[in-house]
Amino acid sequence: MSYVFAAPPQASLAVQDTDARFPVRRIFCVGRNYEAHAREMGNDPDREPPFFFTKPADAVMDTPCTFPYPPLTQDLHYEIELVLAIGKGGKDLREDAVMDHIWGASVGIDFTRRDLQAEAKKTGRPWDWAKAFDHSAPIAPIKPIAQVPSLTKARIWLAVNGKIRQDADIADLIWSVREHVSTLSRAMILAPGDLVMTGTPAGVGAVVPGDVITGGVDGIADLEVTVGLQS
Ligand code: MN
Repeated sequence: MSYVFAAPPQASLAVQDTDARFPVRRIFCVGRNYEAHAREMGNDPDREPPFFFTKPADAVMDTPCTFPYPPLTQDLHYEIELVLAIGKGGKDLREDAVMDHIWGASVGIDFTRRDLQAEAKKTGRPWDWAKAFDHSAPIAPIKPIAQVPSLTKARIWLAVNGKIRQDADIADLIWSVREHVSTLSRAMILAPGDLVMTGTPAGVGAVVPGDVITGGVDGIADLEVTVGLQS
């Protein structure tokens, strides 16, 4: 079998304590999964079942990295998120089976062109241009699940230039890992290499070129991302 031109490289992420890499298939992101963040975005978190949007697999970047400031925005926001790495596929997963499908976990940033998202919400258009742009998912090296102390309780935080902007606990997820991965698996057949970005807590805000973002989920991973000039 041959291709009409060279096949694109497989998107992948670093794994902690090994040179072997995690091959990325798709990136699913959960919207409004922390109450305080849902409220800061003007929504009532009590009424909504979990909903999802996606980013392309090659939006991932290893960290530490310099993230090129994207075009078309004056309001680029960080969103720190717990990231799940699926290692075993399946569909219609029961909540008590979800953990068998998770290969590892990490922390990442769901970069968002907030001005384009606001326009999309206003006009009823898709979120793709707000969320699914190039380099929009820097993610720290993945920690294998056997070494992850907890996916139900851990501090999640983000700082810009050393000043804390997001500080919460994954225990505050409206829809837990088991719940939202089960929900996702009823809509899509999950496959090895899929990532799930599980939503961001309150405190989102804008960054500009030169800012240094640090963040983490305690016990799982930390990251550092420098915001670069527009590429
Ligand atoms: Mn997000």
